[in-house]
Amino acid sequence: MRAGIYARISHDPLETTLGVQRQIEDCTREAERRGWEVVETYVDNDVSATRSKVRPEYVRMLSDVQHGHITAMVVWDIDRLTRTPRELEDIIDLADKTNLSMANVGGEIDLSTPQGKLTARIKGSVARHESDQLSRRLRRAFQQKALSGQPHSYAPFGFTRIVMEDGKKWDTVNQAQADVINEAANRYVSGESLRSICRDLMRRGIPAPKSNNWAEQTLRQILMRPVNIGLRQHKGEIVGKANADPVMTEELYNQVQARLFDPERIRQTRGPSPKYLLSAIARCGLCGGKMRHSKATRYNNKNIPAQYDCKECFKVRRKSEPIEQIVTGAVIARLKDPKLFSALAKDATGELPRLREQLDGLNARLDIAADQFADGAMTGEQLKRINSKLVPEIDDLKKRISHRQGTNPILKLVGPDASERWEKAPIEIKRKVISELMDITIMPAGAGKPFDPELIKIEWKA
Ligand SMILES: [Zn+2]
Repeated sequence: MRAGIYARISHDPLETTLGVQRQIEDCTREAERRGWEVVETYVDNDVSATRSKVRPEYVRMLSDVQHGHITAMVVWDIDRLTRTPRELEDIIDLADKTNLSMANVGGEIDLSTPQGKLTARIKGSVARHESDQLSRRLRRAFQQKALSGQPHSYAPFGFTRIVMEDGKKWDTVNQAQADVINEAANRYVSGESLRSICRDLMRRGIPAPKSNNWAEQTLRQILMRPVNIGLRQHKGEIVGKANADPVMTEELYNQVQARLFDPERIRQTRGPSPKYLLSAIARCGLCGGKMRHSKATRYNNKNIPAQYDCKECFKVRRKSEPIEQIVTGAVIARLKDPKLFSALAKDATGELPRLREQLDGLNARLDIAADQFADGAMTGEQLKRINSKLVPEIDDLKKRISHRQGTNPILKLVGPDASERWEKAPIEIKRKVISELMDITIMPAGAGKPFDPELIKIEWKA
């Protein structure tokens, strides 16, 4: 077979000459695959929309077919060859007369059989065809860029964009970046602020997307993206699966969203927030120094639990979990004591409990909405709408409540339902209440001895 390659670009939003070159490359491969010898290449570059425009190379190609110079045609697709049904019929007639063999890239146009002709005619007349082909050429362009190492469109942080065999783009996990996202998500869920995480990432010299500056807003946006769990978002709504592998578990993602959309936290003022209940509140029983919190870790093949240790004499250290349990239990018992409330409350009109009930009701509605959002039963848009309706009402109630109860944070928590209030309170409030109510001293104990609650001294303040 003596084959001719015919290439044409009518409209290509990308680099036009490259487009022709790509068609030729693909057609050449197709010819090689079939064992055809390429003897001619015809290229028309009619970017203009006028369909009557003469295509000189097309005319030359028809002439070469008629004279037997070429016996086979390779085109990228039938739409490269014929622009109208009329032109297609000419080609079909020509193929009948000359026994011309036809091939297109990745497909089969066989004009020698009635079925093949029908296929070609249908293809030629389907209105969507041109746009399909356009996107196929676009995908091919991406592939070209990927093969030549050029950056193409932007892959989100955490991903590496690849172009697959069929031209489809896919974002695979960029492990180094995904590790950063997961670390940030875990730290955020366990109570650290976005700001503090950003600072730490910068301190460690971990590059941020597009710059080295980790802004709080950048990290927030990264953590919010549904693409983290392989979902696609369009204009704020989740519209389906993304062409991407997930970078984090759905469980972690939902936890992150629950905190990101926690209305209490959204309005929280900026500033470094303490992470642990008793750090710098509890005192060392040996030297009176402030205790600090150390996270659970692994050292010399041993698991070291999270603990409070003295940062002044370094001699006292105790597991943090039982200490926090003891202190929490004591605080809640105290908060439930009605005497505490009457001792602290400025307002005796009896209006306070009703206002607080209303506030709890509104907060519960926000919580339910946030849960529904986290479960995917509500879109981000819907959540925003609910928040924008409820948040002003909540703010108003809070003002009225704080006017009546004064600024003492303890009053936000006292009452028979102190356990639930305590549970929901931000750590900053918990710390304030603890330091207002009690002094905590952690006494030294021999290493390896079982935990002894007696060695946690709680003294109530007046
Ligand atoms: Zn000490």
